[in-house]
Amino acid sequence: MTELLYQKDSYLKEFEAEITDVEDDIIILNKTAFAPTGGGLQCDTGKIITENDNEYNVVEVSSRGGKVKHKLSPVPEMIIKGTKAKGIIDWDKRYKQMRMHTAMHSISSILYQRYGATVTGGNITPERSRVDFDIDHLRQERIQEIESAMSEIIAGNHVITVSFLERVEALKDPDLIRTKVNLIPESVKILRIVDIKDVDRQADGGVHVNNTREIGTFIPLKTENRGKDKKRLYFTLEE
Ligand SMILES: [Zn+2]
Repeated sequence: MTELLYQKDSYLKEFEAEITDVEDDIIILNKTAFAPTGGGLQCDTGKIITENDNEYNVVEVSSRGGKVKHKLSPVPEMIIKGTKAKGIIDWDKRYKQMRMHTAMHSISSILYQRYGATVTGGNITPERSRVDFDIDHLRQERIQEIESAMSEIIAGNHVITVSFLERVEALKDPDLIRTKVNLIPESVKILRIVDIKDVDRQADGGVHVNNTREIGTFIPLKTENRGKDKKRLYFTLEE
């Protein structure tokens, strides 16, 4: 199992770890601050510098069976298991995705509270994101309502906290029930809970900012009707 440093501290930009496995251009570390692709977010990119000063770009990060795989470029000629390494996250990309991700949770909460709409899909990139809702329409007046509700949340300085909760406890929490905590595989006994104070609370594995003011300015870009349960909203964020 790789220890997921980014789940405890999303602001960790550099870290030291040990390489526990190597296969061609893939390395596995005992712990990592690189978040893998998942939960609608792109993976982190960045650099790995080994103890003998070889430097590699981390071009792709994925997770399988509790192990985080870091794909390196160029392909290492030789890395020995047990080698120490330093990881450096591409912070510009990461921070944009953290802001986008917290924005996404906030928008989802607005849509649920106001219209009873649930999220049916979504995708985050550092530059532009989209989210789909099971709702009758997303016409102009509604987008304006969402935009002003987002401004309030951002200006409201809501603190985001991360905690770890036993599954049996999580199954009793009404907010977590609403966000379908029961769909998380039963093998997961401890759940990571992300709480945006007074806005949103759900089990979530991804990176977030610490305060809603860090989101910046929410800019809706366009909407698309992609079917009955799929009204799509594209948005971006400015500083
Ligand atoms: Zn999330």
